[in-house]
Amino acid sequence: MPPRRLLRVAVPAPVRTLFDYLPPAEGPEPAAGTRLRVPFGRGERCGVLVDAHDGEAGAGMDLKRVAAVLDAEPLLGAADLSLLQWAARYYQHPPGEVVAAALPLRLRQGKAPLAGGRELWRLTAAGRLPSSRPPRAPRQERLIAMLAAAPDGLATADLAAGGASPLQPLRALAARGWVERVVVPAPVAPTPPAEPGPTLNAAQADAVASVTAALGQFAAFLVDGVTGSGKTEVYLALVRAAVARRGQVLVLVPEIGLTPQMLERFRRHAGARIVVLHSGLSEGDGERAWLAARDGSADVLIGTRSAVFAALPRLALVIVDEEHDPSYKQQEGFRYSARDVAVVRAREAGCPVVLGSATPSLESLRNAQLGRYRTLRLPQRAGTATAPRIDLVDIRAAPLAGGLGPVSQRLARETVARGEQVLLFLNRRGYAPVVMCHACGWVAECRRCDARMTFHGADSALWCHHCGAQRPRPPSCPACGTADLRDLGQGTERLEEAVARLFPGHPAVRIDRDSTRRRGALERSIEGIRSGRFPLLVGTQMLAKGHHFPNVTLVVVIDADQGLYGTDFRASERMAQLIEQVAGRAGRADKPGRVLIQTRHPDHPLLQLLVRDGYAAFARAALAEREAARLPPFVHQVLWRAEAARPEPPAVFLEALADLVRRQSGPSLEVWGPVPAPMERRAGRYRAHLLVQSADRPALQAGLAHWVEAAIALPEARRVRWSVDVDPAELH
Ligand code: ADP
Ligand code: ZN
Ligand code: ZN
Repeated sequence: MPPRRLLRVAVPAPVRTLFDYLPPAEGPEPAAGTRLRVPFGRGERCGVLVDAHDGEAGAGMDLKRVAAVLDAEPLLGAADLSLLQWAARYYQHPPGEVVAAALPLRLRQGKAPLAGGRELWRLTAAGRLPSSRPPRAPRQERLIAMLAAAPDGLATADLAAGGASPLQPLRALAARGWVERVVVPAPVAPTPPAEPGPTLNAAQADAVASVTAALGQFAAFLVDGVTGSGKTEVYLALVRAAVARRGQVLVLVPEIGLTPQMLERFRRHAGARIVVLHSGLSEGDGERAWLAARDGSADVLIGTRSAVFAALPRLALVIVDEEHDPSYKQQEGFRYSARDVAVVRAREAGCPVVLGSATPSLESLRNAQLGRYRTLRLPQRAGTATAPRIDLVDIRAAPLAGGLGPVSQRLARETVARGEQVLLFLNRRGYAPVVMCHACGWVAECRRCDARMTFHGADSALWCHHCGAQRPRPPSCPACGTADLRDLGQGTERLEEAVARLFPGHPAVRIDRDSTRRRGALERSIEGIRSGRFPLLVGTQMLAKGHHFPNVTLVVVIDADQGLYGTDFRASERMAQLIEQVAGRAGRADKPGRVLIQTRHPDHPLLQLLVRDGYAAFARAALAEREAARLPPFVHQVLWRAEAARPEPPAVFLEALADLVRRQSGPSLEVWGPVPAPMERRAGRYRAHLLVQSADRPALQAGLAHWVEAAIALPEARRVRWSVDVDPAELH
């Protein structure tokens, strides 16, 4: 029997293999990257063809046939597929799910790609007849009148009146055959001209020249530039250079970094057709952006984490802004690091990658030390702005109001009196993190987690920030009945309340996840800050990053101690990055800035180093500590997590797995655990961890595939839910 052609298909399913199918009965063999509808289990699924090969003689007798070819042109290119397969292997995630994650939702579901162009509504011939008028339907009447006046058609948005969606009356009219939906091709957008920006200073020009010289080949750069040093101007110059050579540019930004201001700068100065991709977009908008990147009609794709997998056939440059930001790591399901994938992607595409930050991750600093990344420094603030003065403020014996010590209060008062703005940074939302009975010491705890409930004043409820549980605040202590429950500690709501009391006549705005939940709320608040309506800004890290508020001259870090003694070894690195970022909001224009860091540990060596000598000195010391303690980036880690409704099964499963790993592993591997997770119970489930680490990444990777297979086969695996996290960013 002759060999048969077999198609290897990535089918979304929780299994770590590709599946072979027979080619469709008719038509030419589809190209790799094409979506296929394939029989799977009892139903059908939409998969993506990875490659075709000749099966051995006699092979494929029991294989099923592809049911339908869904695309005339492949959706993904060979380079895209190879990156996705690499990621599936490296992160040990099912390849079908990895490939699916790269596609917009509708395409993942097997639907036809949205036509490029604009969807318009038009009157049909029947709709133009005077007799075609709906009885007693004023909205439909009005729509017909509007469409009659616009023979070329109108978009849905043009037909909305008074905020009411016109879709329902339009559908009613379409059902009568009076209006129709047409897609008119969008004219190919011309490349917009770039408005000139400031003349680059010497450090910026050097950075641009170094990266530009590397266009056309792989090279990794770490742009280490203090906040306000003009990194964004460097990115813009690089985008212009790459686009001038007909290349595409992928710009990754942290979730929080995609501000309207940032986009506006790119739109005006990049001289490129830009599309944006993030999870807040409507399905249609996201898909159209994705398709514009894929068909090359967009030059620049700016996106958050998952944009790293978008298809970009002419990729010439990758930029990762704020490369240290934790949001680049996906914390569930497919646990990839978009920053790390970006570097691999650039290597495969043969183009440069630029990682930029004022506070580079210790991983990237280490890569720079090892010569894998070339460091480009921007040591000074651009333009006329100078670095802010930073002081530690000891609040151990100080009377506090809403967390603000007397020094902070006095300087804040002086600042607002001068007509300047004050930013108060507190990375804890809600009113108070602890509610305690003054009589017996009872503390409000989550019933499903080993955690305390946070009191939120706005809805007068106790909230668990770990599982989302919510319940009313009890009027008196459930343990002893005393009606003396007290709020301990500060959240942003409480700080906002104290600020209103302390600075009457100077309105404050609060920016955190709760205050910005409604669409447009964040934009309105930012606008209010820029216009000067709010002299006082209270906020979490949402306020700490990326924004440019020229009139903020005082920044107060309310509580620097959160990160000093955290359970995670990365806590101090994160805190230093946040402090440096928020400090970077002070004095960004021509007025000098000042930063106060309130602490109860003014002698803490890392904090002292950060304040006295800056982030680079902090990072050097932190790296030395990591090396001595044999922690990343000096070793590489794989974290296994297991959970169940009872504490034993996760421990038993991980114990069996640990045995297996220990038996097979060479001397370069260390196995730690299993141990209960730092918060053992969450959302009613008991969790345990097993950590495997090695300085030898290839050895770790070589073992990994094997251990995953063995883990799946362990009988104990059936009693737990488990996952594996390669290069975990958090150990909880
Ligand atoms: P970063 O991205 O490093 O925080 P930006 O690129 O946002 O820095 O620059 C900070 C501010 O300095 C912006 O207002 C920017 O327009 C301005 N700026 C940047 N480079 C220059 C320059 N070479 N000359 C004058 N102003 C500059
Ligand atoms: Zn009590
Ligand atoms: Zn909880």
